[in-house]
Amino acid sequence: MTDIQLYNTRTRRKERFEPLDPANLRMYVCGPTVYDRAHLGNARPVVTFDLLFRLLRHVYGADRVTYVRNFTDVDDKINAAALARKQAGDARPLEELIRERTEETIGWYHADMDALGALRPSQEPRATEFIGQMIAMIGDLIEKGHAYAAEGHVMFRVRSYKDYGALSGRSVDDMIAGARVEVAPFKEDPMDFVLWKPSDDDLPGWDSPWGRGRPGWHIECSAMSHDLLGDSFDIHGGGIDLQFPHHENEIAQSCCAHPEGGFAKVWMHNEMLQVEGRKMSKSLGNFFTVRDLLEQGVPGEVIRFVFLSTHYRKPMDWTAEKAREAEATLRKWRGLVAGIEPAPSPAPEVIDALSDDLNTAGAIAALHGLAGAGDLAGLKASAGLLGLLGEDMGVWAEMPEADLGGWTERLAAARAAAMDSKDFSEVDRLKALLIDAGVEVRMSKAGVELLPGAGFDQARLEGSE
Ligand SMILES: [Zn+2]
Repeated sequence: MTDIQLYNTRTRRKERFEPLDPANLRMYVCGPTVYDRAHLGNARPVVTFDLLFRLLRHVYGADRVTYVRNFTDVDDKINAAALARKQAGDARPLEELIRERTEETIGWYHADMDALGALRPSQEPRATEFIGQMIAMIGDLIEKGHAYAAEGHVMFRVRSYKDYGALSGRSVDDMIAGARVEVAPFKEDPMDFVLWKPSDDDLPGWDSPWGRGRPGWHIECSAMSHDLLGDSFDIHGGGIDLQFPHHENEIAQSCCAHPEGGFAKVWMHNEMLQVEGRKMSKSLGNFFTVRDLLEQGVPGEVIRFVFLSTHYRKPMDWTAEKAREAEATLRKWRGLVAGIEPAPSPAPEVIDALSDDLNTAGAIAALHGLAGAGDLAGLKASAGLLGLLGEDMGVWAEMPEADLGGWTERLAAARAAAMDSKDFSEVDRLKALLIDAGVEVRMSKAGVELLPGAGFDQARLEGSE
C-alpha cells in the first residue's frame, strides 16, 4: 500500500495518513454559497481536493472513498441577490426568485468545475435539505449547555468549549482582539456566534422551537457532515480563509454535540490565489470568474495545469505567462500521446510525489521526465492521475493555434504614431477589426496584448482587409 503523507493543519505537521476505516474513507470539503459565478480563487480548493480524491481512489479503490461537498443555498447574499431582482421589477414571490437564483448558480458551478476536469463529489448536499438535522443539533447543544436562545436567536457559547481556537492555534482572547466581532445585546460574550436567527416575512424561514427563522452558516456544515459521514471522519478540507472562524466554529459545534466522536481527523487548507502578483479584487480590476477565462479561450485543462504547478499550501499567482506556458506544454504532450494506449498504472515517481502531501510541482516535473525519456504510455497514464490529457478535456487542442501574425506590432505602431499626431482613427479602426474577429484587445502602458477568445475567427481577421 502506498504511504500517503498529508499536512494536518490541526497538528501543524505532515503525518502518515491512516484511514479510520480503509474500506470507507470519508472526506468533507466546504462548498460554495450559491449566489454568483465562481471566481478563479473559488476554484482552487476544488482542484486541490479533486486531486486528493483521485489519489485516494487510486490507492484505496474508487468505491471506497466518499467525498462530500455541500452547497450553501441559504445565505443572506442569496437573499440579497433575489431581492435585487424583485426590486428591479420581477413580480414573482421572493421564494421563487431565491430558488431560481440557487438553481441557476448550481448549474453554472457544475459547468465551470466540470470544465476544470474536477470529478463530481460522491454527494453534494444542499443546506436547505438538512434544516431538520440542524434544528436537532442546535436543540442538543442547548440541552448540553453549549448554546442559548435569546430574542429569536440561538447563540453558541464559545467559552463552554475549552479547545476553541486549537485549530488556528490562538486563544479566545487573542481572537477577540484580532477579529471584528459583532456586539449584540443578546450575546453573553462577544465571541458567541449565531446558530439560528429569526426571519421576517420577506426572508426564507423554517419553523423551529425558537420561532420562524433560518440557520447560521457554520451549523450547516456540522449538520451535513454528521448526517452523511458520522461522528468521526478522515479529512476536512477548505480554503485557508475558512480556518477561522468557520472551521473553529464547525469543530466547536460538532465536538460539543457529539463528544463521543472525533469529528475530522485531518484538516487540510489550501492557500489563496493572486493575480499577476496582487490580491484579486474588484477595485484593482483584476477580478475574474472561471467563466470569464473560459470565454476568453483559456481552456479548462490549462487552468487546471497552472493550478497544479504550485503546491496547494503556497500562495498561487495566476499569470497570463503561466497560462501560455501551460498551454504550450499540454499541446506538446497531447501531440506526443495521441493514439498511444496508457500504461496500466501511473509511474511510481508520480504517485510518490502526489503521496508526499500532494507535491504537484514534483509530479509535473516527473511528467516532463517521462516525456523526455519517451515513455509516452507512462506519461499518458500518469497525467491521467492528475486529471490531465484525458480525451474529454482535449477538444481545445484540436483547434489550430490562433495566428495573430503582425497584428500586435501593427497596433502598437499605430498607437505610438497616434500619441504624436493625436489622431487615433487608425488605432480605432484596427481595434474594431480585431474585436470583430473575436480578439480581446488590451492596451496599457506596458504595451499591447491580443487575446483570441472562444469566438475567435481567423478567416474573418484575414479577410478584414
Ligand atoms: Zn464548512
